[in-house]
Amino acid sequence: MICKNENLENILETKGHKLSKCLSCNIIFSHKDKQEFKNSTEIYSKYYQEEKANRFGFAVEFVVKIFRFIRACKVSLLNPKAKSVLDIGSGRGWMLYFLKKYFKYDVSIGTQISENAFKFSKEKLKLEIYNKDLLELSLNPRFDVITIWHVLEHVETVELYIEKIHELLEEEGTLIVEVPNFNSWTSILTKEYWLALDLKHHLVFFTPSSLTSLLLKYNFEIKKIRTFSLEYSTFTSTQSLVNWITGTDSYFFEWLQNKNFDPKIIWHTFLFAILFLPCFLINLCLYFSKYGEVIHIIAKKRKYDK
Ligand SMILES: [Zn+2]
Repeated sequence: MICKNENLENILETKGHKLSKCLSCNIIFSHKDKQEFKNSTEIYSKYYQEEKANRFGFAVEFVVKIFRFIRACKVSLLNPKAKSVLDIGSGRGWMLYFLKKYFKYDVSIGTQISENAFKFSKEKLKLEIYNKDLLELSLNPRFDVITIWHVLEHVETVELYIEKIHELLEEEGTLIVEVPNFNSWTSILTKEYWLALDLKHHLVFFTPSSLTSLLLKYNFEIKKIRTFSLEYSTFTSTQSLVNWITGTDSYFFEWLQNKNFDPKIIWHTFLFAILFLPCFLINLCLYFSKYGEVIHIIAKKRKYDK
């Protein structure tokens, strides 16, 4: 058990994985078969492909780069005086690169346990990146901004992460955290077909209320909470619905990643194209609700009482 509470409720069983909700903190954990268990270095060594550290083909990679630029703009607008940032699980490092280059950040540091992505950001983008888990990191001084995008769901020691983030953040510093929303409309509707379930990689799931409670417990003040992401929402909803209708895995998403053509792709792509716009509109309508595909929280570290 990740939070060490024994009081659990089983909520879903699929493909050798069991999901249980802790009745004390409401966080949802995935239990894996012992045999299937691999350490994280082994899993993430293939997360990014060789050399260029790409995860997708050229066109999709270009779109990802634009989204990383948008992330950099968001970070900079949120805290215009900030000069230092730590990005935990920094991907290929594009957001950090843009913050350093265009937004005058003096300190732009990342952590990346995947070897290929680590090498890319260090050698090609010339960034200060640590090939280490956050918990093994000792850094001084503290940061004005810490971001952790779609990483917390991969982590077994969630509470230790939040505690460490609190320790590394300046007083009144900004934390941006984003994870999939287990209470999203397609998670509720499609259950085991929900794309963001991704049980090969995801160990922990949150709802807006369980993540909020966790941050409050570690003395963060919640500034903003949203469940819409231009990058993730429409794709996640559409792929989940396609999986649910066809009763299959995420062929379209897999095709984007490894580009192996399978005839089933034609039917799946057709369905994907039909459902994409309706899914975009539904997610837009859910913008201020708690049922969008992600949980995006902006929090501040509380000032210590003098
Ligand atoms: Zn718990």
